[in-house]
Amino acid sequence: MKNNNKTNTETTKIVHTDVDIMGTIYEMTDDYCKNDDYGGETRLFTKEIHLRPKDEIVEVKDATPIEKELGFNQTFRHEIVHAFFFECGMTEYCMDETLVEFLASTAPKLFAIFKKHNLL
Ligand SMILES: [Zn+2]
Repeated sequence: MKNNNKTNTETTKIVHTDVDIMGTIYEMTDDYCKNDDYGGETRLFTKEIHLRPKDEIVEVKDATPIEKELGFNQTFRHEIVHAFFFECGMTEYCMDETLVEFLASTAPKLFAIFKKHNLL
């Protein structure tokens, strides 16, 4: 997976990361602030993932750095799952927020089991 993390620290500190979704590159940027109800969005046709910046993604006032990291990672996984289903041609699943969130939440646990039993 190509991963060219770039951080523009001179001006806006926006993070850009290329995410390879089954051979299709999505550009993730942490510039999302369009809708207060969501932590991010995936633009399927332009291959873009927009996330709230890590410092703003958890809406708890006194969120710890660990909570912010976990919240950012959960949202990033969620948007990747949307893109994954879309690139698989599973557009109905792609639009199923419950399924997408279920996979985004449980995938680390499933992969931990796979890893423990040398199944990856
Ligand atoms: Zn979603």
